[in-house]
Amino acid sequence: MTRVCFLLMLLSVFFLFTVPEDSSAGPQRTPYSGEVNLAAPDQITLKGNIRREEISTPLGTVDLRWPRTAEVYFGRTPVKAMADAARTVSQAIRTSAFPSEIQRLNTNWNVVFMDEKLPQTQIPAHLINNCHPGWMTPPANIYIVAQRVAGGCGQQPRNKSSVADSDLASVLVHEMGHAVEFHLLQGMFAQDRMRAEGFASWFQVYAANYSSVIDRGAQRRDMFSRAKYSIRQNPSGFSSGASLFAGDSLDYARASMYFFAVVDRRGLGGLMEVYQAIAKDKLTFFAAVQKEIGWNSEQLEKEVQRIAQKY
Ligand SMILES: [Zn+2]
Repeated sequence: MTRVCFLLMLLSVFFLFTVPEDSSAGPQRTPYSGEVNLAAPDQITLKGNIRREEISTPLGTVDLRWPRTAEVYFGRTPVKAMADAARTVSQAIRTSAFPSEIQRLNTNWNVVFMDEKLPQTQIPAHLINNCHPGWMTPPANIYIVAQRVAGGCGQQPRNKSSVADSDLASVLVHEMGHAVEFHLLQGMFAQDRMRAEGFASWFQVYAANYSSVIDRGAQRRDMFSRAKYSIRQNPSGFSSGASLFAGDSLDYARASMYFFAVVDRRGLGGLMEVYQAIAKDKLTFFAAVQKEIGWNSEQLEKEVQRIAQKY
C-alpha cells in the first residue's frame, strides 16, 4: 500500500496539487501486524479549535468536522466546499443513464478535514507517510488532509487561492465518486483498486462539468497529460496483466482512460452495462468490458491510446 510521491521529480508541481489520491481500502481490509486501524471520521481526534456541522445536501446529510486551522488554505469554508461538491455530484448522477437507485442516492456522509498533524494511533502509517490528500472508506466515510490538498507533496500550501478551492472540490468529488461506485456495485465492493481508482478519477473529470468551482479544463488536461506520460513510459496497460496497478497518480490517470474510452464509444449507458455485469455476474472490470463492449485486452488498450490523444 505504500505509494511514493515521485511525481514531484517527473512532472510539474501543478499535477501534484490536483492529484486526488486516496485509499479506497474498505473497513474489511486486514491491517498488517502493528498497523493501526483507520478510525471513523467522527472518531478522529482533532486538536485546537474544532468545528462540527451537520449539513443537508441533495445526497443526504453530511456530518462534517474540521479544525479551524484547516480553513486558512481555502477561500471557501469546508461547509461550503462540501455543499458544492455534493451539489455537483448530485447533478452529475441525475441523468437517465445512471440507474434510478443511483439517481436517488441518499446516504449519511461522515467527513473529516484534518491538518497535517495526523493522529498516529488512529490512522495507519502508510496513510500518514504518503502524500494522499484524501481517502474514502465505504459506504460514505471521507477524510481530507487540507494541507495536502492545498500544497501537494511537501510544498508550501497556498492560502485562500481559487486553485486550492478547485482542487478541494475535485478531491471531494473524487471521494464521493467512490461512494457512487460502491452503490453501483450494489455493495459488492470487490477489492480492485485499478477499477475503483479508474472510476473515481474518470468521475471527478466527468462531474466537473457540473461544478462552478472546479476548473474543468485544468482537471481534464491534468488527467490526460498524466495518462499520456504513463503510456509513453510503458505502452502496455493493466488489462493484459503486463503492468500492475501500483497506485501512483500516473496509474490513477492511466486507469481512468479505460472509463473515458468506454464512455466515448458507448456513452454512460455502456459504462453502466459494464457495472451491471461486474455486480451481477461477479466479473472483473476487464472481463465485464469484454462481455458488454466486446473489446479484448488488445482492442481496449488501442482504445485507450486513441482516447488519450483526444485532449
Ligand atoms: Zn480514489
